[in-house]
Amino acid sequence: MNIAGIEVEVIRKDIKNIHLAVYPPDGRVRLAAPADVNLQTLELYTTSKIGWIKRQQRLFLNQDRQSPRQYVDRESHYYLGKRYLLRVHETDHLIRYPKIILRTKTYIDMYIKPGFSVEQKAELFKEWYRTRFKELLPELTDKWEGIVGVSPSTYMIKTMTTKWGSCKIETANINLNLELIKKPVDCIEYVLAHELTHLLERNHNDVFQAYMDRHIPKWKSIRDELNRLPVGEI
Ligand SMILES: [Zn+2]
Repeated sequence: MNIAGIEVEVIRKDIKNIHLAVYPPDGRVRLAAPADVNLQTLELYTTSKIGWIKRQQRLFLNQDRQSPRQYVDRESHYYLGKRYLLRVHETDHLIRYPKIILRTKTYIDMYIKPGFSVEQKAELFKEWYRTRFKELLPELTDKWEGIVGVSPSTYMIKTMTTKWGSCKIETANINLNLELIKKPVDCIEYVLAHELTHLLERNHNDVFQAYMDRHIPKWKSIRDELNRLPVGEI
């Protein structure tokens, strides 16, 4: 069911009380209910808990959130699941800044003009991540469109605050959280497979899960891996 724009998966179980749960990383909502409680009661119950649900969802997004980056030497920055140490180079040489270069397996080098603010450095990083994501995406979408057997109309890389990805079924638009580029490739692939599968099945029901089992058999362990990773600032 859908309550105030939040999709709630309803599971009937041999239990006495209604049990509502919100799961990381994307704040998926599940309601376990006794078989004899009618849908209207469940809707009323969920509506009364909407504030709590939204708080839980925000919490997951913020969990393990790293302290805001300062863009100073030897600070950790992540790319495709690997940690790199930042080296900041201030330079007046016009052709050398602003630029970010993955120099070795250890270092990520940032070339900037002296006096760049933290915001400007953050923006430079964000654009670098976006460019890397755009470069990587065609290879991944080709692979996963082939496996799932659907192709959306567009992919958008966005700064998203509560989800790793989303799919607008009516227009076949898929949004991916820019933050994903910091995660291992299999995590990006999992989110992509998940959103593409929504073009076959809207809800997170048994049909959806059966598709996922077929498309990406290890999806549950990858989802758990994604849960464990810090969300981090963009
Ligand atoms: Zn979904």
